[in-house]
Amino acid sequence: MKKSHFLFTGLFLLSIFTQGCLCVRTNKDAVSQFSTMGALMQGLYEADFNYAQIKKYGNFGIGTFNELDGEMVGLDGKFYQVKSNGSVIIVDDSSKSAFCIVKFFSPDKTINLTGQNDYASIIACLEKEIASKNIFYAAKIEGRFSFVKARSVPRQAKPYKTLSEAAKEQGVFEFKDIDGTLLGFRFPDYMSEINMAGWHLHFISKDKSAGGHVLDCVISDGYIAIDESNDFYIKLPQTADFLKADFGKLDKEELKKIEK
Ligand SMILES: [Zn+2]
Repeated sequence: MKKSHFLFTGLFLLSIFTQGCLCVRTNKDAVSQFSTMGALMQGLYEADFNYAQIKKYGNFGIGTFNELDGEMVGLDGKFYQVKSNGSVIIVDDSSKSAFCIVKFFSPDKTINLTGQNDYASIIACLEKEIASKNIFYAAKIEGRFSFVKARSVPRQAKPYKTLSEAAKEQGVFEFKDIDGTLLGFRFPDYMSEINMAGWHLHFISKDKSAGGHVLDCVISDGYIAIDESNDFYIKLPQTADFLKADFGKLDKEELKKIEK
């Protein structure tokens, strides 16, 4: 009698505990985005979410910071800020992000890369391996890179320039013979009003001293891990600037120029 009562109480407490967790979390497989690419392109560089909140939605990700202060790389639960001078620092939980995409990375498949593969052939390999162009993918490409060209954007001050104007001041870095990870996401074409369609990858070196938004690279030895998802969650800023902005259509050609 006593034993069954104990079991019942235990199950009851467990159900409260698990339901409590579900109330504050999205599906663990969801890709979560904070703000929109359209907002970033217009120069809305101040949002109201900090990395303590963002980390609840993923241990892996890419993005930027308030005032467009560099490129973000999240890997294995640690988040890094690549400044426009190329320095890399650990992100403080109180730092805020004007735009980012995160996920709990859990690979569904891995592929070995042999020989030299440049950025275009890595993208071609990713495209060949995905099952559908209409769902979400996260990927990481880890190994030895004979070459990486990356950039980071400089911190902006008010009145904010548009992203294409701010990107003209970007710092560009080239690394040779470096171990590290490319990581990022693929968004479907139909999402191109709120994010960049296709692959968007950032780089972080194994020793966490170098990184940025990837412009070009050559991997000489490594592997690809792909994580697919059918779930998407978006968190919008509650700032006055966001609420009153007029976004219209996203200029996809302009965005391509900024990202390449
Ligand atoms: Zn980027």
